[in-house]
Amino acid sequence: MQIHANHKEILNGKTTDIYFQRAEEILKKEKKNPEVTAEVWAKKLPDNYKWAIFAGLSEAIELFKNKKINIIGLPEGSILLEKEPVLTIKGKYLDFAKFETPLLGYICQASGISTKTARCKIMAENRIVLSFGARRMHPSLTPVIDRYAYLGGADGVSAILSAEKLKIKPQGTIPHAVILIIGDTAEAALAYDRAVGKAVPRIILVDTFGDEKIESLRLAEKLKNRLDAVRIDTPSSRRGNLAQIIRETRAELDNKGFNNVGIFVSGGLDEYRLKELNPYSEGYGIGTSLSNAPTINFSLDIVEIDGKSITKKGKISGEKKVLECNRCGERKIVFVKDNKTNCICGNEMGLLTKKIMEKGQPVGETETIDIIRNRVLRELRFLDV
Ligand SMILES: [Zn+2]
Repeated sequence: MQIHANHKEILNGKTTDIYFQRAEEILKKEKKNPEVTAEVWAKKLPDNYKWAIFAGLSEAIELFKNKKINIIGLPEGSILLEKEPVLTIKGKYLDFAKFETPLLGYICQASGISTKTARCKIMAENRIVLSFGARRMHPSLTPVIDRYAYLGGADGVSAILSAEKLKIKPQGTIPHAVILIIGDTAEAALAYDRAVGKAVPRIILVDTFGDEKIESLRLAEKLKNRLDAVRIDTPSSRRGNLAQIIRETRAELDNKGFNNVGIFVSGGLDEYRLKELNPYSEGYGIGTSLSNAPTINFSLDIVEIDGKSITKKGKISGEKKVLECNRCGERKIVFVKDNKTNCICGNEMGLLTKKIMEKGQPVGETETIDIIRNRVLRELRFLDV
């Protein structure tokens, strides 16, 4: 049984809310189909975020291909702030009305996942962050979740199909099940060492039966320099002080000369937990908090009809644009008609948005995921959580 919508159904507007179909029926009957300008923006970011990453655009613009639509907006992977228009859509209203629902669906979830990952990446302070969240969401979304985690700065993903689509190697160890079936962590580690190719890192779970510190030492002694890292995934009921468990394990490994054995941590992590674990960890597997990241709640609002400024209560009419000062980083939302705008520092501000689509055709080269991801990683150097 397949329940999830396929690409064709999405592009045909079948996943849209019924009220857009009603809007089409009414306006067609009334012979009204004006030129409108609509802006996509996030009024408020979740959890008091100061910024978010704009993601999902490459998928979303497929909706408007070969339609008489022009789009201006932030490049995918850009930083966005509350209230900034990230996309400006221009065209006959009936040419895009029914795509509002899927457009927002694409960018709200993608931006939410990329933003959460970027926050984890910042808090991990150059340590490895892997996306482990596939199991918490519908499997048809697995490559979607991992794409946007990777775009947001994740160093790798655990799911096979996601890794294939990203053209990277999937990352992971072995499940607790193998250790349970073999009956001993060290024996399971030796079996793993015998079974998998040399290129696969030897990272072994150490929380199945015994104490994490003792098991780590036992593994290091058995596998010697072939052991790359241990992974601590201790259940919350046994954690007590997780940072203390990792600190002890690190100290004991170092004390016995196993300084090269890293420690990976997973299980219920989010950006707020990482700071205290950083001194002892080499990397993190982060699951639910990435795949179930709060969405960035964009909305789409008409701001002009047939060239006249108009909008609903609570919004500001007239087409706007986002400027940034390349000297001090200050950003500002101004009306498109405002020409030269100076920053509070005196510098002239530059435009952040660019042409994304003209008459239904994408403008410029299609950006690869790595180009977009590198844009994110460059931005992250200047941001905090
Ligand atoms: Zn400035």
